[in-house]
Amino acid sequence: MNDYGTVTVAREKRSAQDYINEVLAEVKAKNQAEPEFHQAVFEVFDSLKLVLDRHLEYREAKILERIVEPERVLMFRVPWFDDQGNVQVNRGFRIEMNSAIGPYKGGLRFHPSVNLGILKFLAFEQVFKNSLTTLPMGGGKGGSDFDPKGKSDNEVMRFCQSFMTELARHIGPDTDVPAGDIGVGGREIGYLFGQYKRLRNEFTGVLTGKGLNWGGSLIRPEATGYGSVYFAKEMLATRKQSFEGKVALVSGSGNVAQYTVEKLIDLGARPVTMSDSAGAIYDPDGITREKLAFVMELKNVRRGRIKEYVDVYKNAKYIPVDPTVGFNPIWNFKADCAFPSATQNEINGKDAQNLLNNGVTVVSEGSNMPSTPEAMKLFLDHGILYGPAKAANAGGVATSGLEMSQNSQRLSWTREEVDKRLHDIMVRIHKDCFETAERFGTPGNLVNGANIAGFLKVADSMMDQGLV
Ligand code: NDP
Repeated sequence: MNDYGTVTVAREKRSAQDYINEVLAEVKAKNQAEPEFHQAVFEVFDSLKLVLDRHLEYREAKILERIVEPERVLMFRVPWFDDQGNVQVNRGFRIEMNSAIGPYKGGLRFHPSVNLGILKFLAFEQVFKNSLTTLPMGGGKGGSDFDPKGKSDNEVMRFCQSFMTELARHIGPDTDVPAGDIGVGGREIGYLFGQYKRLRNEFTGVLTGKGLNWGGSLIRPEATGYGSVYFAKEMLATRKQSFEGKVALVSGSGNVAQYTVEKLIDLGARPVTMSDSAGAIYDPDGITREKLAFVMELKNVRRGRIKEYVDVYKNAKYIPVDPTVGFNPIWNFKADCAFPSATQNEINGKDAQNLLNNGVTVVSEGSNMPSTPEAMKLFLDHGILYGPAKAANAGGVATSGLEMSQNSQRLSWTREEVDKRLHDIMVRIHKDCFETAERFGTPGNLVNGANIAGFLKVADSMMDQGLV
């Protein structure tokens, strides 16, 4: 008999790998046309064979089968009027993936590519990432196929109000606390929060990433980018190196990319690239504070394209996206480190090989699942310092957790205090991943370290709480 009072089935006679293969086959069969979700599950499960050989109780309790099944999936219609008075209809989602260690927590993404499979991959990753932060947060993710690009502020507001009108009944400060992600920044969080407050007649910490005047935390906008650089700093320290003089490739030009560049400059590195979905810029002189201020104004205020950078800084060159070449040119410059900070699968096998050929020995993932399985394998096989997203970019959600704590206490901490806590959390996450990788016989493999450390806390909590 096992803990659930049922007769133990013959499962544990199989090898961990056979068990994992069976669950993966079920995941694929039940969730067809969701390749990103399959990829995220495969990557975590690949590390877990090291755990499942030692812990038969997880198999008996069907932890894997349960952890891949969202606790709840919400999918809803979002109708709104555009500026011409035409009716527009988008699809809204919230995936409440796992609440074993706390209320669901994870961002909202507004991008035309958003679909159920992409949000399930993000929600699944979020479960383990949140567990690594050491804060009490479960995992969730949501969003819409709405594209804020090219929309007026009024259109974005009407969309956000309609989206929140449905979402409000499912979330709450002790239930589910969304935040930003691609296409959802301070402006969108403001409109979403305003509508929630109006519908519920309560001022609570139901969203994070709020404005400083109305419950936001200092350092939250900076946290994901800063955190990814702090994580890389810890990786470098294991080889007695620092950022001083290192050349860095950064992709994206949104929230994560901007503050990654800022912290790299602070620590003495020389970032030389940024990008958006239309192309990339390469600035051999380095992106300085002044140039970064230009990018921030361009992207956050004027909402322009990164191409305009080369109109102002003449030594820089612009490389438009060309899907026919089969690789991303941003990863093909001489450099020491790479900080993918745009989107999923932005580094394929060819890109990873280019990075290695160009001398890159540090990769810290700001974006979620930026490396394909081939790319990840190359990084691990070459023994470079490789920080997987669920560890390296956990600073954003960790600081959201700090925002929740401040909201509950009705206090706000200083910039220095939040930054110190963020730094300490990133140091702890690195240490946890590093030590877990060693404990499970794969020293230096932070992918295994992050997946296993994140999983154990969630799995043990699920065991404690019975079959729910
Ligand atoms: P933003 O919307 O602020 O910026 C996204 C950037 O990536 C933009 O430059 C955008 O270009 C580019 N981009 C988006 N989609 C694509 C695409 N399909 N191909 C090429 N470029 C693309 O988002 P964030 O900076 O917040 O998020 C970036 C990544 O970091 C995402 O993977 C997100 O999940 C992850 N992340 C974010 C956290 C946060 O706190 N914000 C926390 C943890 C992870 P364009 O302007 O042309 O669309």
